[in-house]
Amino acid sequence: MTAAATATCRLAAGKEKSLRRRHPWVFSGAIDTEPGRATPGETIDLLSCDGEFLARAAWSPASQIRARVWSFEQGETIDDGFFQRRIAAAIEVRSGLFAAANGTAVRAPERSALRLVHGESDGLPGLIVDRYGEVLVCQFLAAGVERWRDSIIAALQQLTACASIYERSDADVRAKEGLGVRTGLVSGREPDGLLPIDENGRSYLVDVREGHKTGFYLDQRPGRDAAARLFHGREVLNAFSYTGGFSVAALAGGAAAVLDVDTSATALALARRNIECNGFRNGDGYEQLEGDVFTVLRRFRDSRRSFDAIVLDPPKFADARAHLDKAARGYKDINLLALKLLRPGGLLLTFSCSGLVTPELFQKIVAGAAVDARREAVLIERLSQPPDHPVLLAFPEGAYLKGLLCRVR
Ligand code: SAH
Repeated sequence: MTAAATATCRLAAGKEKSLRRRHPWVFSGAIDTEPGRATPGETIDLLSCDGEFLARAAWSPASQIRARVWSFEQGETIDDGFFQRRIAAAIEVRSGLFAAANGTAVRAPERSALRLVHGESDGLPGLIVDRYGEVLVCQFLAAGVERWRDSIIAALQQLTACASIYERSDADVRAKEGLGVRTGLVSGREPDGLLPIDENGRSYLVDVREGHKTGFYLDQRPGRDAAARLFHGREVLNAFSYTGGFSVAALAGGAAAVLDVDTSATALALARRNIECNGFRNGDGYEQLEGDVFTVLRRFRDSRRSFDAIVLDPPKFADARAHLDKAARGYKDINLLALKLLRPGGLLLTFSCSGLVTPELFQKIVAGAAVDARREAVLIERLSQPPDHPVLLAFPEGAYLKGLLCRVR
């Protein structure tokens, strides 16, 4: 597919500032004249109110984010070669990062798991590609990448030589772009069953067909590493445990006991298998509770149950600005309860993956929770997403994951 950038979109006076700072989004309110003929995902040129070229972008008429920038260079054509170059660059960045981070090459490449393409931060707005060994799982989350899907898939096939490509374009954000759900095998062999991956010596089984996101929370690798490093000898509560990511890490690091709490029986069943495939047995200090964390924490408070370490990794509480207050109350509630359940010297590893909750706000919420819980706590480490989830400096929205490791006195 080739596209000549013919249609143009003129911004209202004064609305070109964020583009000049190289932020890749244009909201509907910034537009003076829409590109009348452009269809979803079509390449358009963004112009200032004086007609000056600002950027080349994908048009998305259904979304509040009306355009997402492909390039700030007027000379750059958006074609198959463009996607080849951007994807090759994303792969190149990671090969350097991981060699440096580990000191050695990945031990078992057929089991390595990492994010290969992280959307806007890799210059490919709306595209997520995660690699689980020989299987790539992709999500096309915006009109632009949807339109260039075939070119992107061809580039991925050529550049990675992975055995299979699987699609999980079933994230809610697609609806905002006017796109429906699409999932299933794109090319290669249907992955058989659960995919085994290795994460810093820990084994996990990943369900790329039915699991959350692309199957696994790759972004929590640093958090799991922290649990492995710090939870030795501790009795751990892993709230919102999903498939036991933090639990395996805690046990691998020598935790005395781990209790997983989650509402999903399916997630807990896979957590059990993950525990077992790391050589730990159910009952052997590992237990599960299927239930709502808000209720379970209250019950533990009332029965005076206590722990030496608690992980709180809830789903996104704030999807829109309108939900921010309610989200803040949710975070405060669980953090307050968790702080009450910690024994002296206990560790709280608490996260928020809501992009709308800034690191400052999150820290303020947890600080408020400590005051109300009447516990004095110190922040001993901040956590965020790993290097395979980079954040383009011009796009601070890319930094969505925040973690605080606190020690109560
Ligand atoms: N920490 C995990 C990822 C957590 S995802 C990891 O590293 O892999 C969030 C999990 O919270 C999901 O498994 C979901 O089923 C669960 N969940 C959502 N709301 C919940 C609630 N109110 N109580 C308990 N679990 C909940």
